[in-house]
Amino acid sequence: MSDRDGKIWMDGQMVDWRDAKIHVLTHTLHYGCGAFEGVRAYNGVNGTAIFRLEEHTQRLFNSAKILRMAIPFTQEQVNEAQKAVIRENKLESGYLRPLTWIGDRKLGVSPKGNTIHLMVAAWPWGAYLGEEGMKRGIRVKISSYTRHHVNITMTQAKAVSNYTNSILANMEATDDGYDEAMLLDSSGFVSEGAGENLFVVKDGVVYTPDLSAGALNGITRNTVLHICKDLGLEVVQKRITRDEVYICDEAFFTGTAAEVTPIRELDRIELGKAGYVGSRGPITEKIQSAYFDIVNGRNPKYAHWLSAV
Ligand code: PMP
Repeated sequence: MSDRDGKIWMDGQMVDWRDAKIHVLTHTLHYGCGAFEGVRAYNGVNGTAIFRLEEHTQRLFNSAKILRMAIPFTQEQVNEAQKAVIRENKLESGYLRPLTWIGDRKLGVSPKGNTIHLMVAAWPWGAYLGEEGMKRGIRVKISSYTRHHVNITMTQAKAVSNYTNSILANMEATDDGYDEAMLLDSSGFVSEGAGENLFVVKDGVVYTPDLSAGALNGITRNTVLHICKDLGLEVVQKRITRDEVYICDEAFFTGTAAEVTPIRELDRIELGKAGYVGSRGPITEKIQSAYFDIVNGRNPKYAHWLSAV
């Protein structure tokens, strides 16, 4: 990726893609204290727009606050930087990656006296778990790794270091021939995917783990909660056991990258009911289609979630 053309916004400047570099003694590279976002821009009916830009930037600032990092830019500047990166790279749609890190002024665990930096990059990115997965559903395995406990590295921060857990879980699952991992919390209740929140449907009711299970407070999760309300679906946030997922009617993952991805199999057990065992369920399909209407500007009720670039 380092030899691409294009621009990256780095500490307030548009820098050539190839020149957007940092030093090997960067604090975050050694100790993992940093935060990032994953944001998508869609080429919708009214042109290119970033979906829920304000909320993503707010979460980035919340993550930094949790990690005791003072971002030296305003939220408005970070919003503008994201729009500028889409424009400068002439992207009609794509994935945005804002990231804040601690600089190279000094090493040692304490970052006190060091500098805080921020960059925004963007590139084209299709369906994260594959086009086929969006239609048919993906195959998932319960991870042998536990999701972070809420009092370890802070689960409401989208912290760089939290992703070692996600990487290990995803690599284990994909090495074993699955598409993605599902992680349990330290009490054994279902938490989330390696980079996605989880929903299950049973008897017409939609369930999702409450955030005490250590899952990230996903912006797509929040969007799906709004969609369910609009569709008249009851939603319950509660502790969910892995066997509740085995016997659910439908299950799906949500995330900015993963969007709404159906789950057709967990631990080699096909999920679902007669008519759609081992494939995308009807409620999932409705939610997925409502999601794509919203992100592509086809639902005026949520026009305020789209920031034109
Ligand atoms: N959980 C984890 C661990 C994630 O990395 C993500 C992706 N950001 C999510 C959940 C979903 O969050 P969002 O919908 O805000 O992208």
